[in-house]
Amino acid sequence: MSVADARFFEAPARAEAAGAVAAAFGDVFGETPEGVWSAPGRVNLVGEHVDYTGGLCLPLALPHRTFVALSPRHDDVVRVRSAQEAGADWEGSLSEVGPGAPDGWAAYVAGVAWAMGTAHGFDAVVDGHVPLGSGLSSSAALECAVAIALADLDDLPTDDAGRAELAAACVQAENVVAGAATGGMDQAASLRCRPGGGILLDTRDDTVEHLPLDLAAAGLALLVVDTRAAHSHSGGEYGARRADVERAARLLGVPTLREVDPDDLDDALERLAAAAGPGDDVAVLRRRVRHAVTEIDRVRRTADLLRAGRAREVAPLLDASHESLRHDYEVSCRELDLAVDAARSAGALAARMTGGGFGGSAIALVEAGAVGAVAQEVARAFADARLRAPQFLSALPSAGAGRDA
Ligand code: ADP
Ligand code: MG
Repeated sequence: MSVADARFFEAPARAEAAGAVAAAFGDVFGETPEGVWSAPGRVNLVGEHVDYTGGLCLPLALPHRTFVALSPRHDDVVRVRSAQEAGADWEGSLSEVGPGAPDGWAAYVAGVAWAMGTAHGFDAVVDGHVPLGSGLSSSAALECAVAIALADLDDLPTDDAGRAELAAACVQAENVVAGAATGGMDQAASLRCRPGGGILLDTRDDTVEHLPLDLAAAGLALLVVDTRAAHSHSGGEYGARRADVERAARLLGVPTLREVDPDDLDDALERLAAAAGPGDDVAVLRRRVRHAVTEIDRVRRTADLLRAGRAREVAPLLDASHESLRHDYEVSCRELDLAVDAARSAGALAARMTGGGFGGSAIALVEAGAVGAVAQEVARAFADARLRAPQFLSALPSAGAGRDA
């Protein structure tokens, strides 16, 4: 294999991509859009599968963004087109939007207007540069681009508190209209991140602390491996994990697993076994609890290191996160494990799956000069295993949702 076999999915320059979607809007609707807005996809550095049990997570915005050119209308009609969904334009009235309707991709657009209580229709053209269905949250990028556009046009607050409200509306749109289960991490990251850092999101109260992540200064880079293994079967497993942690929390008598002190984990696991009923698989519940409690603790430790400017030292925490997701939470898969193992043997300081799992993407913390070599080794491992070629993205901590033009 050659270096060229490690294919990078590059983010286009923002101004160029914004110009292209505005031009596409002109082609479709015959006029200039009122404006262009965009929102990023995200990767989670650490803190996986804990956003639905009151946990902490630490995502950052990717340079890869979804753009929307949009004009408000005087009636309640919505007309939308996406460059990524050719032949699936949607037109309808806001009064038709609600739980489960519309179906298809337009749910992520019309659903946001529904959740925000937007009083007017709009025309919109979407063009996304976040890979779809790769666990990098193209769904949140789309929702958040629409949300920031509507907020801007309707003079809603877009400071951090306003963005927290927009994120909640986007979660509503995804849960209720698109019918996809999701916690709050993706939308918070897409709306609330700032360039040069990640956010420590406390999902108990949606508060955010901005943390510096100056990888370049540490001589590091964050490489994303999109395994291109579809995570489409993850829905049922996601629901099952949520049910496990909710059951475990009930047995332990706590509202969420956040309330379990990591220093008290062994005791908690004993108490769990004692409280379990005949229908409970105690061994499974113990593993789920151990993942959630240790993962939340790893986020705390990672945040401490980042606050102290010691980014390089987070490596063992990222590795441990993967082992926990793989063995205790059981949400990894062959492709993710291969990406992680290959990246580590190619010299990555650390690697872990990121996002919901069962496919999607992994991240590797690598020396800045080794990005190409690590990507090439991962691509080679996939070829040797006769798997579909992965693609790679550079995760430079980027800006949250905003106006482009
Ligand atoms: P992920 O968020 O990890 O990329 P999801 O399955 O949550 O994967 O979301 C992918 C879905 O979001 C797509 O199938 C599509 O319905 C919608 N979507 C995302 N980006 C776009 C886009 N640019 N244009 C149209 N639909 C999109
Ligand atoms: Mg998604």
